[in-house]
Amino acid sequence: MADETTKEVEEEPIDYEEEEDVAASGADGEVKKGHYVGIHSSSFRDFILKEETVRAVVDCGFEHPSEVQHECIPQAVLGMDIICQAKAGMGKTAVFVLATLHQLEPKDGEVGVVVLCHARELAFQIAHEYSRFAKYLPDVKVGVIYGGVPIKQHIELFKKECPHVVVATPGRILKLVRDKVCDLSNVKHFVLDECDNMLGELDMRRDVQEIFRATPHDKQVMMFSATLDKEVRPICKKFCQDPMEIYVDDEAKLTLHGLQQYYIKLTEAEKNRKLNDLLDALEFNQVVIFVSRVPRAIELNRLLNECNFPSIAIHSKMKQPERLAMYKKFKNFESRILVATDVFGRGMDIERVNIVINYDFPTSREGKDDGPYQYMHRVGRAGRFGTKGLGISFVSSEDDAKTLATVQSRFEVEIGELPDSIDINSYMQT
Ligand code: ADP
Repeated sequence: MADETTKEVEEEPIDYEEEEDVAASGADGEVKKGHYVGIHSSSFRDFILKEETVRAVVDCGFEHPSEVQHECIPQAVLGMDIICQAKAGMGKTAVFVLATLHQLEPKDGEVGVVVLCHARELAFQIAHEYSRFAKYLPDVKVGVIYGGVPIKQHIELFKKECPHVVVATPGRILKLVRDKVCDLSNVKHFVLDECDNMLGELDMRRDVQEIFRATPHDKQVMMFSATLDKEVRPICKKFCQDPMEIYVDDEAKLTLHGLQQYYIKLTEAEKNRKLNDLLDALEFNQVVIFVSRVPRAIELNRLLNECNFPSIAIHSKMKQPERLAMYKKFKNFESRILVATDVFGRGMDIERVNIVINYDFPTSREGKDDGPYQYMHRVGRAGRFGTKGLGISFVSSEDDAKTLATVQSRFEVEIGELPDSIDINSYMQT
């Protein structure tokens, strides 16, 4: 059985997050959301959504739409194509979840909405968001599809209870499409989350294109990311018809103002001691520690546990059920320290994370200048939806220092050396 599972997994097209190894080289209680991000004069009722959806929005505690929601939802519910850049943690997910649920007419055996994203936990998170907002729409079935689990499970799902909304990573869904298990000929809405990441890599783009071609010509296409550089925009546009385009051309506007950012210059050998000191000295609800490669994640996690910091790890070489279990553990606040590779760098939304530590500074992929963007995505795991947070980066090489300098100039953010003491009120809701 185990062999069969392995075989099944091996046969499918690769899941791109598995490449991160290569890519990377080159208080409990509710957290109060930030105040300034909401458009206080408007309400979700203004969008004229289905009554069931509005009730779910209220249940989720959303009072006012954020700026990106205010700008996009009215167009999105009309079926317009959208390419949208907005800074991390400002509620882009709800834009496409609400807009597609509003328009969806669930039909037995027909997939009406496809959402593609790059990481399995992100697919799980988005599917969960659909379930939250579809709480009062009992007919709507949501399916999450990704590799690393037996394909039989997915074959049965499509046979018995074909989901109306499919949230997937590209590798597994493409295999299901090729094998004619999943029929996408009735899709009316096609969404790409973290679209620059999904279309920027040639291999992944090819798979996305093949999945796209399995859907009808006439459909709504929506794409989202916090980072959309000028090179990837024309590629995004090729998938769309006369889209509404929202870009943040002034990259300084991507800066998260609730987030305090600092660096520490040190040698590689000093990193572990420093991390220990920081975890002892800082107050945190939850912290994510980013490293560049899988073996480093494994080793650092082991070391932290040895030093009595009960951390967990998430990386691409873990078996999928364990990976999801770790994600849930962290999401449910059963663990407060997570060591992760860039698999966790984008899109993941863990409300109580108020500190991000770049144990390894993000690096650019070969031929690309995307290290600074990756920095923004990573530190954006803290300070979600305008909350306070702290980003601390270890700088141990000249390359690290260069990327840090680019981050500062590109996003017009001042990242100073970590002072001896920081006021806890500056990075934590007290
Ligand atoms: P993004 O995709 O832009 O990075 P998310 O969609 O993950 O951001 O949203 C970040 C967090 O903000 C999530 O926890 C989400 O539930 C919450 N959120 C989104 N919109 C609102 C809103 N209008 N009011 C309150 N919280 C919101």
